[in-house]
This record gives sequence, structure tokens and C-alpha cells, in this order.
Amino acid sequence: MDADVIVTGAGPVGLFLAAELKLAGAEPLVLERLPTPSEETKARGLGVLATELLRRRGFGDRLAEADAAGTRDLARDHGTTLGHFASIHKLVPDPDRPRTNIWQPQLERLLTEHALALGVRILRGHEVTTIESDDDGVTVNGRWRGRCLVGCDGGRSTVRKLAGFAFPGTPPLLRTTAGRVRFAGDVPAGGRYPAGAFMFGGSMAGFTEPAGDADPDGPVTAAELADGIRRVTGTEVVVEELTDGRRFADQARQAATYRMGNVFLAGDAAHVHSPSGGQGLNLGLLDAANLGWKLAAAVRGDAPEGLLDSYTSERHPAGEAVLRNTRAQSALLAPGPHVDALREIVAELMDLPEANRYFAGLLSGVHQRCELPYAAGEPAGTYTPDLELIDDDGRVTRLHEHTRTGRGLLLLTPDTRHLADERVGMRVDVVPVTNVGPLLLRPDGVIAWAGEGSPKAALDAWF
Ligand SMILES: Cc1cc2nc3c(=O)[nH]c(=O)nc-3n(C[C@H](O)[C@H](O)[C@H](O)COP(=O)(O)OP(=O)(O)OC[C@H]3O[C@@H](n4cnc5c(N)ncnc54)[C@H](O)[C@@H]3O)c2cc1C
Repeated sequence: MDADVIVTGAGPVGLFLAAELKLAGAEPLVLERLPTPSEETKARGLGVLATELLRRRGFGDRLAEADAAGTRDLARDHGTTLGHFASIHKLVPDPDRPRTNIWQPQLERLLTEHALALGVRILRGHEVTTIESDDDGVTVNGRWRGRCLVGCDGGRSTVRKLAGFAFPGTPPLLRTTAGRVRFAGDVPAGGRYPAGAFMFGGSMAGFTEPAGDADPDGPVTAAELADGIRRVTGTEVVVEELTDGRRFADQARQAATYRMGNVFLAGDAAHVHSPSGGQGLNLGLLDAANLGWKLAAAVRGDAPEGLLDSYTSERHPAGEAVLRNTRAQSALLAPGPHVDALREIVAELMDLPEANRYFAGLLSGVHQRCELPYAAGEPAGTYTPDLELIDDDGRVTRLHEHTRTGRGLLLLTPDTRHLADERVGMRVDVVPVTNVGPLLLRPDGVIAWAGEGSPKAALDAWF
């Protein structure tokens, strides 16, 4: 074996998964087709749960630093730092559970540093083109052998296609073409038009229109952008300079299962959807966090029964929820007077504080719950926030200061300390607390038990 787990793709999800595997004692090997990291500025924001996840692995200061600059860029490009649902910018952030504004290339640099510091091997310039899977493992390109393979190779995933995962879903409704643009002369106002939408803020400009049958390929050209803006707004523009051109559509598809034998999918390889609301990284990094410790336990040979299958059963519903809300956003982004009317009503709803929290929760996923196979108490099944913890001496810490090692944590109050014995201590880290708990937290931040009865069933299910 060259590795326990071969990870295809050094995008954010592959990099984070490899780091999680290494933390949990498995040996990953990352194969990436690009010789150098991509500088494509796709995502510019990291959702609440992914922000908390990376804070738990020690990224806090670096995310905060990036966020300061990212928030300035967001204000420049969108004219506001409020979140949006279908480009209705009204979502009030929760100060206790913030997102991070960070450009994707910068995030990938941080994730690369993190993985390399842990000793992860990343081989660039190696495109995965063949896989052969048998009972003992997977051979990649006839050359590398691992016990299992994870496709983190993005929306057009080769691993997904080669392994034969079904990928059902809906075709695109809308297509967007955009880039960093310098115009010469007048530019029409940004906003909705009868034929589509024109976005123009700061340095970014682009247009969205019904997808039709066309599936343009190749680099975006200045002429293509100017033509599209004219089609949508009815105004001729002169695009003097265009960089960073990109096209994206809102097809919504999801792998029917995230595991076939010893081949797994995570991130965009497992689900594609419109970028509306900036949810892809949140979803993908949480896939990686869910899979990493489970796969490492399987490789080490101490995974409880059914542990690996819980990856699909927990993460598929999370993907479905994002496909659902991005489809709804696409419906609200389509042109036409009926949609204009619906948008007005949704915008009015978003002025109601409870509705505002509802829409913010749809995008952040903080209300999502993993189904747990035992009684566990409230709020078990949800993701923990960055709790303040006070120990017996009154010392105050934050949860993220206890989670760098990626182990499970059992937070025990004075009256529940008897629940921890030496055997429990071998399976998870026990943290004495006085102000919250008792709680059992999995390495991915899911609250596995919250004080109902004994933690035994939860410990046996996960550790
Ligand atoms: C315009 C736009 C804006 C977005 N904005 C946001 C946002 O604000 N917030 C957010 O959360 N998400 C956003 N997203 C989505 C986000 O960019 C993706 O969800 C994220 O990149 C997924 O990461 P990934 O690692 O799964 O896949 P990718 O980032 O696609 O990485 C896959 C990696 O695999 C490599 N690879 C592919 N095939 C092979 C192969 N055969 N062999 C070896 N390597 C291979 C690729 O080179 C790449 O490095 C946006 C997307 C777009 C298009």
C-alpha cells in the first residue's frame, strides 16, 4: 500500500480531509492534477459551521485576519455586508456564530499549510484517470495503491464517473457569466431586467439569464460579456479589460450514495448546486470532517459497526437541504414580473425577525440535525458552537482551545464526573467543566450526547 487513503483533488475539501485523516492516525496521499494551486476566486465566504470547524483546528487568528480584508471587499462589491437569499441582501449575521469572508485561494493556502504541517503528502501534476477497486483496496492510474479512495475532485468528478455513482438531479435554470471588468464609457444600473439580471459592483460585473440549451465552454471573452450585458439590459457597453472570467450555472445534482465499497465522494464531487448564498464550502468541509475520523477508525481497525455507512446517512440529508434552498433561490432569481412580485413578498418576510433568522438558518445549516441511533437529549445531533468553558478553578477557555487534536471530547460537570473511567479516557478526551454539559462531542463537532441517561450508547456508537 502507498497510503491508507488516496484522496483525489487538493481543493479545499481534499486538503481538509487529508489533514483530518492524518490527525486521526491514517496515512493519506493526495493526488492533484494541477501542477500549482488554482488562483480561481470562486468562493469568497465560509459558512458558520465551516468557520467553527476550522477554528476548532486552530485557524482562528488566520481566519479573523482574512475576514477583515474579505469583509472590505464584500462591502465594495455588494454595497453591503448583510447576507443574502436569492440576492435579497437582508440577512442579519449572528454575532455569536459568524461566517468568514475569505477568498478561496487564500483559504486553500491556509489548508495546504495545515495539511503539510501535519505531514500530509500532496503530489501535484497527477491527474487520476483510472481506478480499479477490489476487496482489499483501490489501485489508481495502475500505479498507486490505497485501502480506499475518496473523490474530492470537484463537480465534474472523474472518480464519481469511473466508480459509477448515480448523480441524479435537475438541469440548469439560469447561467451566469462574470469577471473582473473595466468598462469604457457608460454602464447601465445593476439589477433585474425583463431578460435577466446585470450585476455590477466594485470590480466584478456579470449577467445572469435563462440557461437555454447552450453550454458555452472555453475562456470567457470581452465580446461575450458585452453581448450578454446588451441582451439583458438593452444597453451597449464597451468592455475594455476582462480578467478572471468565469461561467457557472445552477444545475442541482447529488450522488445517490456517498460510498460504493471502498470508494467515497466528498465536497462538490458528491453534490453540485448554484453558488447562491455561498454554501458549497460549508457543505464540503463538513463532509470531510464527518468522513475523516470515521475512515481513519476503519483503517485503524477499530471502527464500530455501521460507522462508515453513517457518512452517507448523515451527510446526504445535509446536501439535500442545500440543493432544496439553492433551487428555491434560482426560482427567485429567474426573470419576469411574477418572480418580481414573489421577490417583493419574500423581501417583506425577511423584515420579520423570526423569518430573517429562518432564512439565515437555511443557509448556515445551524438547525440541521444528524439522526442519532440512540436517545441523547437536546441539542444532540446538532453542531456545537464555540462554547465558553469554565473549569473547577474558574479558568475560562473556549471549546476551540481543546479540539486541535481532533479527538472526541466528553465535557463533564462535577455531578457527572463518575461517568468517566480509564477506558472512556482512552476513547475520548475528558474535560472537566462547571458551566455547560454534560456533553459528548464527536471530532466533527456533532453533539453526540447531551446528558440524557448514560453516554455509553453514544460512546459505543462512535468510538
Ligand atoms: C462563482 C462561484 C462562487 C462561489 N462562492 C462560494 C462561496 O462564497 N462560499 C462557498 O462556500 N462556496 C462557494 N462556491 C462553491 C465552492 O467554490 C465549491 O463548493 C468548492 O470549491 C468545493 O471544493 P472541492 O474541494 O469539493 O472541489 P474543488 O474546489 O473543485 O477542488 C477539486 C480539486 O480536484 C482537482 N481535480 C479534479 N479532477 C481531478 C483528477 N481527475 N485527478 C486529480 N485531481 C483532480 C481539481 O484540480 C481541484 O483542485 C462558489 C462557486 C462558484 C463557482
